[in-house]
Parts: sequence; structure tokens; C-alpha cells
Amino acid sequence: MIEISAPLYVGDVVEMRKPHPCGGKQWEIVRVGADIGLVCQTCKRRVLLPRRDFARGVKRFIRRGAATESDA
Ligand SMILES: [Zn+2]
Repeated sequence: MIEISAPLYVGDVVEMRKPHPCGGKQWEIVRVGADIGLVCQTCKRRVLLPRRDFARGVKRFIRRGAATESDA
């Protein structure tokens, strides 16, 4: 499992263990808070995941967003 105490930033792109029903595995982080907002890069659908579920489901970081873009 990935160490997720590392800060998350809006604009980060991650790969999740479990693909979206559309087949997409890459997600862009659009919101960082108690819940993590993610947009599927394949179908552009938006979901909210509790931080814990996100930490459990994330496989790896594809791209890191700019630290200054965080709204935390
Ligand atoms: Zn999708």
C-alpha cells in the first residue's frame, strides 16, 4: 500500500487499483478535503471518495499537481 500521508494536491493524477466501470484507471484530483474529489480521465465522471477509501484504492501517482494549487 502507498504511503498516503504525503500531501495530496488538486491536479494530481493517480491510478487506482480498481478500474472505473468505463474501464478508466486514471483519475485527476479535483478536490482535497475530508473527501477526495476525483474525475475519471476516461469518461470525465466525478466521484467523491472518503480519504481512507482513496488511500486504500490508490495504486500510484501518475503526475503530481503544483503544491500551490492546494486548497487545504
Ligand atoms: Zn470512467
